[in-house]
Amino acid sequence: MERLDVPVVSYNARTAAFMAGEGFALAADGVYRDAAGRSYAAVLTGKPAPGSAVKTWGCQMNEADSEALLGQLRQMGYGVSDGDDRADIILLNTCAVRGTAAEHALGEVGRLRRLKTERPDVLLGVCGCLTQMPETVAYLRQHAPHVDLVFGTNNLDDLPSLLRRAYRDEAQTVDVWAQSPATVEDLPAARAAGVRAWVNVIYGCDKYCTYCIVPTTRGRERSRRPGDVVAEVRRLAAAGYREVTLLGQNVNSYGHDLGAGYDFADLLADVAQVDGIRWIRYTTSHPRDFTPRMVEVVAAHPQICEHFHLPVQSGSDRVLRWMNRGYTRAQYLDLVHHVRRLVPGASITTDIIVGFPRETEDDFRATLDLVAEVGFDNAFTFQYSPRAGTPAARWEDPVPPEVKHQRLERLNAVQYAESRRHNEALVGTAAEVLVEGPSRKDPAVFTARTRTNRLVLVPAVEGAGGRFGRARLTAAQTWTLHGEIEALDEETPGAPRAG
Ligand code: SF4
Repeated sequence: MERLDVPVVSYNARTAAFMAGEGFALAADGVYRDAAGRSYAAVLTGKPAPGSAVKTWGCQMNEADSEALLGQLRQMGYGVSDGDDRADIILLNTCAVRGTAAEHALGEVGRLRRLKTERPDVLLGVCGCLTQMPETVAYLRQHAPHVDLVFGTNNLDDLPSLLRRAYRDEAQTVDVWAQSPATVEDLPAARAAGVRAWVNVIYGCDKYCTYCIVPTTRGRERSRRPGDVVAEVRRLAAAGYREVTLLGQNVNSYGHDLGAGYDFADLLADVAQVDGIRWIRYTTSHPRDFTPRMVEVVAAHPQICEHFHLPVQSGSDRVLRWMNRGYTRAQYLDLVHHVRRLVPGASITTDIIVGFPRETEDDFRATLDLVAEVGFDNAFTFQYSPRAGTPAARWEDPVPPEVKHQRLERLNAVQYAESRRHNEALVGTAAEVLVEGPSRKDPAVFTARTRTNRLVLVPAVEGAGGRFGRARLTAAQTWTLHGEIEALDEETPGAPRAG
């Protein structure tokens, strides 16, 4: 892969220069203020303490982008509102991978028309993967004039100047870039309080799987420099974070574009040297680029959790070819065997699509067969639906919807039984866990996660949130384990909400 030589710019330096031009400087409280002490947001909105709301659809990369949007808003002087009706700016960070996520986001755009009628001074912005698609921009121009600002994934770090234009422009401000001209470092991120943090390591994807819109919406692969990644992880450890998840559409491609003979195995090994980081996770992997050396590095570093998410998508070689996945069934199984040989007790999860165009009953049986052979701990399963803008969407789609549905049901029946079998095998054992905190449904129940990324529900223990410990596993369901906290490690002060 050729070296892309994407320049690296500092968000802080670039924004300080922009703000200086606007008459603002970063004050001691971390907010850009003018000579009179008014925040940039206060001047833009005409309100002393404007509020903001960011709504997110989609994957972890979008979650991390929303943290960066909130971080920028905070540095401009916006507070975080607990509800649309108190927000002065609302940003919708959209997802384009599946039709449902797109429909939900555009539904929200429609729903907010009323709020804009009642409060025309609210600034409504739409960003994320959906706006990288020209048909979405055309739709928003034509059908959603109440949206003030439309921008994409490649310029979300340009929020201060985008907002200045949006507040000044009468008409809808649209600024979507096909490719990011630079990798932007030291973006302020408003991270969730606690001990777990996302760390982007590579942006974009060059794999062009025929069913996937991501290469269109996220652009070419651009790796962050290793030193910048490790420095960020060090800062997180110093701030009290104990678990980092290295993020990318395809983390295993990391480094290919840097031309330095440094790849994801090297990055994992370097991140594992950072004191204070107890657990390292990474997502999303691509079997095609998951080298044996990467498995060896996982095996050699106890900080790196033994959970491998290896999206296989299909068990049929010809369907894998049509998907442009770049590996065969045999190569995938070799990788699985290598993982199992080097990392005993590893959990292996996957993604599978059924009903891909021209998939026959034999192709589907090959998928069922592979699922039985691997014995995945868990799988995210989908029936194929064409995504506008992808190569496969232009192909005939002869598999009838009811057949797709039946295949999904047959696959789920096999996988659910397998997931349950894996969980049941753990009942009576103890596992190292990170206690997350109160479950959404019941505050008397805490959620915890094992190194193998299993969800464990435990009775609430005061002060256990954000702490590592050991849980005795007492019962199993298909996706969830139940247990009791047996011991909690010395309290590690989690990070207060940053930004
Ligand atoms: S590897 Fe394939 S499925 Fe994954 S983001 Fe890239 S193009 Fe999409």
